Amino acid sequence: MNAGMKALLIENLKSLKLSTMIRNLQSHLRQAKQDKLGYDEFLLNLTEAEVQVRKENGRKRRLRDAKFPLLKPLETFDFEAATGLDARFIKELSSGQYVNKSRNVIFMGKSGTGKTHLATGLGMEACKHGIRTRFVTGCALANELIEARDEKILGRAVKRYAGYGLLIIDELGYVPFSKEGAQLIFQILAERHERKPVMITTNMGFGDWTQIFGDPSMTAALLDRVTHKAHVINCTWESYRLKETLRSN
Ligand code: ADP
Ligand code: MG
Repeated sequence: MNAGMKALLIENLKSLKLSTMIRNLQSHLRQAKQDKLGYDEFLLNLTEAEVQVRKENGRKRRLRDAKFPLLKPLETFDFEAATGLDARFIKELSSGQYVNKSRNVIFMGKSGTGKTHLATGLGMEACKHGIRTRFVTGCALANELIEARDEKILGRAVKRYAGYGLLIIDELGYVPFSKEGAQLIFQILAERHERKPVMITTNMGFGDWTQIFGDPSMTAALLDRVTHKAHVINCTWESYRLKETLRSN
């Protein structure tokens, strides 16, 4: 390729924002010449690296935007310690199929059983699959929505929370919602219903959700929506923290 043409090509790649291709152009041209590659193979190799870099950047961006409190991947979860948990099912969930099918996932059980860890791990997998994910505690979500309403930007906040490919609401029920908070959370869940899934971790059985949301008829309507076709995982095993503490003593 002559210098003039190369300069034009680089200009074009620049305006198309294909920076990895620009970076690799020289070495790929050399490689193609050396190995006598056809144009087809040359172009495929050159675009391949760009696609990989973009995928990786996208994954990193989604991980950042998800706002996980701690990055706890599934690989660090000890399935042996969670007696009765169907590890195969968690692996299946890690494929992200439930997101496409818009099926909710609910982790229910005592503190320390790894609910947040599992939800984070699955959320990180979702980010890998290109799913826009957001992790938030029930309490923080309610507060954020109340604040947004006060600032008259509720519409925008609802739209944002309705739009995530996967919304993870952690620790639902640790703190009961105010009436206003409950209504706003209800609104988000109603918006997402059958369109986009939520993953919920909670220490409360469904029978106790009225204590979280206050109003019994609203809770019934909410439960009806949230549990519809949901995967419910009962975390009945011992607390991992407690086990660790007992072992180290
Ligand atoms: P929960 O949300 O159910 O209260 P967490 O997910 O916060 O529990 O777990 C408590 C701590 O124990 C975390 O540091 C978590 O990473 C760890 N943990 C819990 N279960 C496991 C497990 N099976 N394997 C590895 N670490 C675990
Ligand atoms: Mg937790």
